[in-house]
Amino acid sequence: MHYLQQILFVITLAVATYFIRKRVLRIRANINLGKQNEIKDHPSARLSNMLLVAFGQKKMFKRIIPASLHFFIYVGFLVINLEVLEFVIDGLLGTHRIFAPYLGGFYNVLMNLFEFLAVAVFLACVFFLTRRNVLKIPRFWSAEMTSWPRLDANLILVTEIILMSAILTMNATDQIVQTRDDHYVATGSLFFSSYLIPFFTNLDTSLLVIIERFAWWFHIIGILGFAIYVTYSKHLHIFLAFPNTYFAKLEAKGHINNMPVVTREVKSMLGLETVAAPDGEPGRFGAKDINDLSWNNLMAAYSCTECGRCTSECPANLTGKKLSPRKIMMDTRDRMEEVGKSLETGGPGLNDGKTLLNDYITKEEINACTSCNACVEACPVLINPLEIILELRRYAAMEESGSPAQWNSMFQNIETSFAPWKFSPSDRANWIDK
Ligand code: SF4
Ligand code: SF4
Repeated sequence: MHYLQQILFVITLAVATYFIRKRVLRIRANINLGKQNEIKDHPSARLSNMLLVAFGQKKMFKRIIPASLHFFIYVGFLVINLEVLEFVIDGLLGTHRIFAPYLGGFYNVLMNLFEFLAVAVFLACVFFLTRRNVLKIPRFWSAEMTSWPRLDANLILVTEIILMSAILTMNATDQIVQTRDDHYVATGSLFFSSYLIPFFTNLDTSLLVIIERFAWWFHIIGILGFAIYVTYSKHLHIFLAFPNTYFAKLEAKGHINNMPVVTREVKSMLGLETVAAPDGEPGRFGAKDINDLSWNNLMAAYSCTECGRCTSECPANLTGKKLSPRKIMMDTRDRMEEVGKSLETGGPGLNDGKTLLNDYITKEEINACTSCNACVEACPVLINPLEIILELRRYAAMEESGSPAQWNSMFQNIETSFAPWKFSPSDRANWIDK
C-alpha cells in the first residue's frame, strides 16, 4: 500500500513539474519577446525596493483592512508551504510526519502556527469573496473585469478556503488516530483542528485513516494544481512582484525617457552636437506591438494583480474616459499570451495581422491619458502603465500621425515656432516692449 502511494506520489509530482516547467519556459520566452533593456544600476536601492514593497507589502498598507487580510494570505502562503516540504518528503519516502520526531516539542508549536495561519487565510478569503461578490466593490466590476478575470479571482479564493479546510480536517482526524494507532506520530494537541474532533470522534479508525489520507492527498494535489494554475492567472504576481519591484524605475515619477534618435536630431538641428546616425534601418518610434516594448514592461504585465487601484485613481477613468491603466496591463499580457500560444503551435506569432495598438488598445484610450502618474503611485507592486501608454502614443503620433488634429497642429507649431502657438520665433519677445 505504501509503495503504491509512493509510486502515485512520484507520478503526480513528475506530471506537475512537467507542466510548471513548460509554462515557466513559455512565460520567459514571452517576456523575452520584448526589447533588451539592461538594468544594472543601483543594486542596493533596487534590493531595498524589493524588500519593502514586495516582501514587506509597504504600498498595500495604504488601505489598512484589506492590507492586513492580504498580509495573512501572503504570510500563510509562505509559511504553510514549509509544511509542503514535509508532505513532499513523506510522499517520496512513504513516511508520515517525518519532521515530528526530529523537532520534538517545536513540531507542535510549528503545527499550531500553521493552523493559526490556515484559519486566518480561511477568514481573509471569506472576507475577500464577500467584498467581491456581495458588496460588489466597483473596481472589481468595471468593464475590463469580464467573466474570466472575475472567475479567476473567485476560483483562487475558493481553492484557498478548501485547501485550508483540508489541512484542518487532516489534523483533526490525525489527532484521533494518534490515540488509537501507534504508527501515527504524536503531534501534541493542535488548537484549531481540535474543534473539529467532535465531528469525527465516533467514526471507525479505518474510516478516519481514509479521511486523513484523502485530506492529505487533496491538499498536496491542490497545492500542485494551484502551482500550475497560478502560471495562467493574475496570481503570478506572488512570484513576479519580486523581480518587478527590483527592476522598477528609480527616477522621479515625472521623468520621461528621451528617445535617443530624436534627441540626436534635435541637438544636431540646434548645432549642439553632430553625431552620425547609426548604420542600418532606423528603429520604430514608440511601440505598436509587444516586441516594441521592453522586457521589463512585459514582465510588469505578468506581475499585475488586477487589483484596479490604478484605475480607481486615474483621473481620465474617473471622468468617464475609456482609459483604464489596469486594462492596459491586462491587454499587454493577453497579447503576449496570444503571440506565445501561436509560436508554440507553429503559427505566425507576431505576424498574425494583429497588434497591441488598435487590436487591443485603442487610440481613444491612450490619448485620454494625462501623464499624471496617479496609476504609478497607486500600484502596490510598482507597475508603470504610463510607460506603455507613452510608447504607444509615441507610435501613434510619430509613425501614424494618428493624434487628434489639434495635437498635430500643436506639434507642428512646436517644431516651427518653438512654442505651442502659431507665431514667428522672431516675435516671441515682442511682449517686452509693450
Ligand atoms: S498617468 Fe494616465 S493612465 Fe495613469 S492615472 Fe494618470 S491619466 Fe490615468
Ligand atoms: S497595474 Fe498595479 S494597481 Fe493596476 S491593477 Fe495592476 S497591480 Fe493593480
